[in-house]
Amino acid sequence: MKGVAILGSTGSIGKSTLDVIARHPDRFRVVALGAATRWEALLEQCRAFRPEVAVLLEPLGAARLAQGLRAAGLTTEVHSGAEALVTLATWPSAHTVMAAIVGSAGLLPTLAAARAGKRVLLANKEALVMSGRLLLEAAAAGGAELLPIDSEHNAIFQCLPAGRPGVLPGGVRRVWLTASGGPFLRLPAERLASVTPAEACAHPRWAMGRKISVDSATLMNKGLELIEAHLLFGLPPGTVEVVIHPESVVHSLVEYADGSVLAQLGNPDMRTPIAYALAWPERIDSGVESLDLVRQGALRFEAPDRARFRCLALAEAAALSGGTAPAILNAANEVAVAAFLGGRLNFTSIATVIERVLERLTPTDVAGLEEVLEADRTARRLAAGFVGEPAGACA
Ligand code: NDP
Ligand code: MG
Repeated sequence: MKGVAILGSTGSIGKSTLDVIARHPDRFRVVALGAATRWEALLEQCRAFRPEVAVLLEPLGAARLAQGLRAAGLTTEVHSGAEALVTLATWPSAHTVMAAIVGSAGLLPTLAAARAGKRVLLANKEALVMSGRLLLEAAAAGGAELLPIDSEHNAIFQCLPAGRPGVLPGGVRRVWLTASGGPFLRLPAERLASVTPAEACAHPRWAMGRKISVDSATLMNKGLELIEAHLLFGLPPGTVEVVIHPESVVHSLVEYADGSVLAQLGNPDMRTPIAYALAWPERIDSGVESLDLVRQGALRFEAPDRARFRCLALAEAAALSGGTAPAILNAANEVAVAAFLGGRLNFTSIATVIERVLERLTPTDVAGLEEVLEADRTARRLAAGFVGEPAGACA
């Protein structure tokens, strides 16, 4: 019986994780749950899974949660604040930690789980993009297993022979990262500036949180994933190709020196990579329907349009620059996406803000966490300034 802690339990990945766990009460026990503000959703989850501890970032919500738990006769401990999320990530009875907080807020708890030697299920790609090798080094030092949840990286992991994170097994020529292309794949360039947050979040294949949905629509998600792939699998520059695959059935591919290409296929449902990582190296039921190849029919592949989706090119450049460049890119993107979701920035200006921040800041080497946090803070300040300018200035 493995104890599981979930950072970001009320989100899309958190809920899918609980769905898989509920199918295997003989294998997994939920010991800790954490979220930001949605105390009612967390209360419901505590009633259903009876964890030892629940953490909410926001103190007022945590007080309401504690009240609700007492009224339900449950003994779950409640804590609040960012420090408490780190406590949750290192909870002694947790064997496995699902890192599914969205954005840079997930960095410190994810690092802590790695240092504590947990099995870390890495959904929070921003943490890895920001910290680069620091997270891999923390996992190595703590004896943690780092298993990718992002469907593409989980697919690559499944197509590679067993190895160590960050070290490429021999004979790999390159990796193909598939991208659905998002909701605006066929939208003419001149209409992109006026798309709404609701349109950007209506992803054609995947139901996800709002931030990653916007990232999918700009293709920044694929850019972040490219950086993630280089780090996780030790892939040298120029060995990761992005290919648009609108059906989202082939989750990614690995090409070997002899010309063999291995792919992982399945219906687009995050419960597959979650179940894989929870039970690895075993295979368990995830609740995902069988893929019906005949009903599915044709699978298409096409080149991404980097002129219309500039975020992809910006991320590729940041991957090449290395050092703090990915942290700068990520921070500027988080600020710009939040502004877009809040109606303060238009869709095409997301790329413009990021581009201007990257132009202004010179990346430095990453010796430790302080450089990463400093790059994050500086890029956020600068991006916020650009967003505050009249719309025309960023367009
Ligand atoms: P959601 O927006 O659906 O959920 C985010 C979760 O994080 C919620 O539980 C939220 O709590 C919590 N949270 C947000 N901010 C904080 C904070 N500052 N401190 C603590 N908790 C916080 O996101 P997703 O589940 O879609 O994505 C989570 C991560 O997984 C992202 O990094 C994303 O890139 C990655 N991912 C997601 C995929 C998907 O299919 N959804 C696929 C691949 C990767 P509350 O509900 O209280 O706000
Ligand atoms: Mg993905």
